[in-house]
Amino acid sequence: MQYTLEEVVNHLKTQGFVFQGSEIYGGLANSWDFGPLGVELERNLKNLWWQHFISKSRYNVGLDSAILMNNNVWKASGHLGNFADPLLDCKKCKTRMRADKLIEDKYPNLNCGGWSNEQLKTFITENQLLCPNCGAYDFTDIRQFELMFKTNQGVIEDEKSVVYLRPETAQGIFVNFKNVQRALRKKLPFGIGQIGKSFRNEITPGNFIFRTREFEQMELEFFYDVNDQTDWFNYWVEEVTKFLNLINLNPKNYSLCEHEKSELAHYAKRTIDVEYKFPFGAGELWGIADRGDFDLRQHATMSKHDLTYLNQETNMKILPHVIEPSVGVGRLMLAILYDAYHVEKVGDDDSRIVLKLSPLLAPYQLAVIPLSKQLNAAAYQVYEKLLQRFQCTYDETGNIGKRYRRQDAIGTPFCVTFDFESLEDNKVTIRNRDTMEQDRIAIANLEDYFIAVLR
Ligand code: ATP
Repeated sequence: MQYTLEEVVNHLKTQGFVFQGSEIYGGLANSWDFGPLGVELERNLKNLWWQHFISKSRYNVGLDSAILMNNNVWKASGHLGNFADPLLDCKKCKTRMRADKLIEDKYPNLNCGGWSNEQLKTFITENQLLCPNCGAYDFTDIRQFELMFKTNQGVIEDEKSVVYLRPETAQGIFVNFKNVQRALRKKLPFGIGQIGKSFRNEITPGNFIFRTREFEQMELEFFYDVNDQTDWFNYWVEEVTKFLNLINLNPKNYSLCEHEKSELAHYAKRTIDVEYKFPFGAGELWGIADRGDFDLRQHATMSKHDLTYLNQETNMKILPHVIEPSVGVGRLMLAILYDAYHVEKVGDDDSRIVLKLSPLLAPYQLAVIPLSKQLNAAAYQVYEKLLQRFQCTYDETGNIGKRYRRQDAIGTPFCVTFDFESLEDNKVTIRNRDTMEQDRIAIANLEDYFIAVLR
């Protein structure tokens, strides 16, 4: 890959996309705050996801469930007790790592998602895998590490008051399946989606916002009758691909990888991951899993509630099956930003950093630039008018070339330059981020012009 993670991260920090969490106190390991530009990109991305998977889908509806849930939810889902990573320490340098990742980093074609601790240990021993930090071959036994964050609810901190921060948004959807179906009189097939924070006490967080302990997910749980002949799994794989096209992710940088039967999570019948080629290696971006009826069955048994659906045509009660496309907001943002980052030569002896973000995602779609401070009053009127329809910024400091470069660096697709002639001819210069070409457009036509090009 052309650019290093460090280079891209530095750029994002200096431009106000992302800051280190709690920075003035020396930070908190692997926590990040989205700055003013990052949060605009994030909101655009979440809105697009919501539009594509919820509002514009004829099947799906939205939800916003609580982060803290009854502990029985986590018993039923298998998170309490089972939701643990296989952990091992290097006895020499004390580096802690995931046994499955130790293997996968050395053998990228393997996926040890479904392996037992015994299988992992045997593989590491037989292949004499070494500590990636110090090169020693001296590991502790593999043990399971509890991934859920624990806290206490109420004033008394005892075993009874223990609650967990949700490790995925999906369970909030499953436990509300019947509420949603009844209240909205939904007929199968239908989906419920939500966007929200999840927490996992990851053993090996890192690679910037790729793996953090607090992160946001965009999850859809799509419920269908298993006797339905439609290939819903494929349908959602295609919808995910359409979404990646919509946001202009370069198809050369990602691929669809089907899990082998032996690699599937215990509840999954089929899984395809969208894997993105990050600068530190290929990693899961978006998981699409056929979870069968595992979740509803578990919750029906644990809660003793009837979670079946009555098919009114056949008069049969069935437990719907579920397809889950699930993606992390931060992880997707990292892919988008990495994809968009370019350093380009301009002429013989100049260069620019340009974020070639889709206009649907860019923090600002337009920047209004007065050529001189004397033009502020008139230029501001143009800005205020455009602001009603578009995400706009107003940039009045530095020479014009510097201002163009600054807008390139944050991904603004168009600059609208107001010069002295604009006072006479009521036209402005439109400068295109990617081609750097300039066009002269009547102020009166600006809205129509941008509605046509900003997509
Ligand atoms: P990984 O193998 O990378 O740990 P996973 O298979 O545990 O991921 P899922 O439980 O399927 O991930 O979560 C769905 C999506 O949520 C992932 O595809 C990813 O985009 C995102 N995600 C999961 N864990 C994290 C994390 N710690 N930080 C950021 N995003 C995450």
